[in-house]
Amino acid sequence: MTDKTTHPPLAPAFAQLGVRNSLLRALAEMKFQTPSEIQSLLIPRAMAGVDILGQARTGTGKTAAFGVPVLCKAQPGIATQALILVPTRELAVQMEIELKRLGQFTPLRTVAVYGGQRITAQMKFLRQNPEILVGTPGRVIDLLDRKIISLNNARFIVLDEVDRMLDIGFRKDIRNILSRVTSVRRKLQAREDENEQLEASESPADRHDIDQSAPADDSGSAAPVQLIFVSATLSPEIEGLARRYMSEPIEKLIARGSDEKPTVEKVEQRYFAVQPWDKYVLLRLLLQREQPDLAIVFCRTKRGAEKLAKRLTHDGIECREIHGNLAQNKRDRVMKSFRTGKFDVLIATDLASRGIDVADITHIINYDIPQDPEVYVHRVGRTARMGAQGKAFTFVSRDQGGELTKIERLINIMIPQATLEGFEPSPTPHDWKENKPVAGESPAKVAAPAAGPSVKRGLGSKIPVTRRHRRRR
Ligand code: ADP
Ligand code: MG
Repeated sequence: MTDKTTHPPLAPAFAQLGVRNSLLRALAEMKFQTPSEIQSLLIPRAMAGVDILGQARTGTGKTAAFGVPVLCKAQPGIATQALILVPTRELAVQMEIELKRLGQFTPLRTVAVYGGQRITAQMKFLRQNPEILVGTPGRVIDLLDRKIISLNNARFIVLDEVDRMLDIGFRKDIRNILSRVTSVRRKLQAREDENEQLEASESPADRHDIDQSAPADDSGSAAPVQLIFVSATLSPEIEGLARRYMSEPIEKLIARGSDEKPTVEKVEQRYFAVQPWDKYVLLRLLLQREQPDLAIVFCRTKRGAEKLAKRLTHDGIECREIHGNLAQNKRDRVMKSFRTGKFDVLIATDLASRGIDVADITHIINYDIPQDPEVYVHRVGRTARMGAQGKAFTFVSRDQGGELTKIERLINIMIPQATLEGFEPSPTPHDWKENKPVAGESPAKVAAPAAGPSVKRGLGSKIPVTRRHRRRR
């Protein structure tokens, strides 16, 4: 068993990127033979020590793209050399698993810290001074403030899903964390000084880069810290914000295709024109027809996800739910069962829209169309991972044509309409109150389902359902 000849052969393509043997062995174990494009681009540049902004489509291996160089360069025995920040707890758990696998033949340890888990439980692992820390921003700040961890030894800070990390919800937390790193703090300070000299009164909102509440140098690292920020989607605004933290030479590495058409190509995308009161019936029928091996149904609100899961369960369709109203241990359990294929349908809010990598998700159903078109890209990116096949259906009501158009513009694809045989739209119920069209919204682009016999392209019938092998239970 320990005989060297039993190890899978090391991948020469990864070796050429300068990856260490211990990691090559892990990559071989994990059956990573060829680096994805973002990995080929990012691994050697990260090893060279520059700050990097990386962009590549969902499911193209961005985790290993930064994970491999971080693990290659980390030295055993020195705590928190790398801090990897992620937007959700689920992603922290997943990232910890992936980095542990990559580092399985090294003495390096990776620990995930995130909210909703007792700090005392995490302390047990933190006491071993793990070299790599993965975490959600809130919990990381908490641990830094309590001086349980420090960034003194930090060499790498990674922001995964950087567009989410620098959007309004997390921006302040990220600034707080990054301001504790001396090299970043100096950079921000220099920028502030420059601004002051330029124009003291100009755009005051812009001039508070440095979080004064963050401790100055007591937990700050003296050596320059390498920043690696990655995402599938990156707006010019976010890129501008990201660059403020980074030091020259900053390299922007973009895997081909990620900027022009950010959805995974192999996803077969369709929309259904459906009125809100008919959505449930359509969903039930669609699930029955498609019999997905593994599906995520996305809802806009926690309450909506809860209600939908309850209704499906009541109607004999097995499903589970995941959203912020659930206790963290429940969320962890649901994700674990989903990963191992214990149930087929997950009803989720957008907390599962980013980064979650579960193999063989065959269907994404946007029960509620996302308001932000980039969220669509992330949701749909949960299927067709690493070149697999997948389908995405989006429910669009009469007043949501504008949202659909925004998505189509972003992905630069016209999403064809689908109809489902046997689905009969019903008239507006007398007591219908919810989802009244928002005043001033663009007029309907989507025809009402009742509008005559549409081109019959019944999804359950005409479009062949290419069922892949059943997941092992
Ligand atoms: P992203 O962050 O770009 O959405 P992930 O890092 O989550 O993608 O990777 C998607 C999946 O692809 C994961 O299951 C990962 O283990 C796998 N993977 C990554 N790189 C490779 C590779 N070079 N060869 C085979 N599988 C890979
Ligand atoms: Mg990812």
